[in-house]
Amino acid sequence: MPNYICVMCGNQYRATDEPPARCLICEDERQYVNPEGQAWTTLEALQRDHHNVMGTLEPGLTEIGTKPKFAIGQRALLVQAAGGNVLWDGVSLIDEATIAAVEALGGISALAMSHPHMFGSMVEWSHAFGQAPIYLHVAYEPWVQRSDPAITFWEGDRHALDEGGTLHRCGGHFEGSTVLLWPAGAEGRGVLLSSDTIHVAPDRRHVGFMYSYPNYIPLSTVAVDRIVDTVMPLPFDRIYSHFYHLDIQADAKEAVRRSAARYKQAMRRER
Ligand SMILES: [Zn+2]
Ligand SMILES: [Zn+2]
Repeated sequence: MPNYICVMCGNQYRATDEPPARCLICEDERQYVNPEGQAWTTLEALQRDHHNVMGTLEPGLTEIGTKPKFAIGQRALLVQAAGGNVLWDGVSLIDEATIAAVEALGGISALAMSHPHMFGSMVEWSHAFGQAPIYLHVAYEPWVQRSDPAITFWEGDRHALDEGGTLHRCGGHFEGSTVLLWPAGAEGRGVLLSSDTIHVAPDRRHVGFMYSYPNYIPLSTVAVDRIVDTVMPLPFDRIYSHFYHLDIQADAKEAVRRSAARYKQAMRRER
């Protein structure tokens, strides 16, 4: 039985004879259902007409994305932390070439996901690297479409990874929206992998915050305050978000502070 993959959000589902009737992640108001009708593919089909491309972002940090663009089109990030490699966020495609390339960088000893839009085929990735644990905030339990013993739920607002780095639950876009702090990144000044909990703007000097990006539903200022209050005490100078090139190379904390103030000012405007 195949594990069908939704072509809009890239989530791989539990094994079924027939494609699932609906994609619960796309039916949620933070994503959207294919206007042409719900459609599915499989990993085998993806392996035939797509491939992954990897690129070095800085020493110890590699982006992995699928070409041609598939589903949301994010990149996964492989962090070579002091105690082992961590795959941050996922993509739907995994193939022999990708496995060999990741093995050459030391493999994967743990996976961690920011939120369900980035889950991709996380269970396939875990299985390809010795059932490496997948760390998900417990708020995501209802969002997991393919259960697996490798999935490890963590509770609270902070979870330290044995490999190095810590997960911080910021909430906002999703109740469990998580960021990964990699203190050794940016030449020791610290890197925050923000996914779209903190979305880097195209000018790469500002960030934004949204409940739903495709449906343009903003977050409350209370939710933005909570995100900012969570990340401000963390040691970081650089941010990488979930899309290609959307990074803030330096003074990222000041960019978050400035952008949150701008956002809250906009939300208070009366005309
Ligand atoms: Zn979907
Ligand atoms: Zn998202």
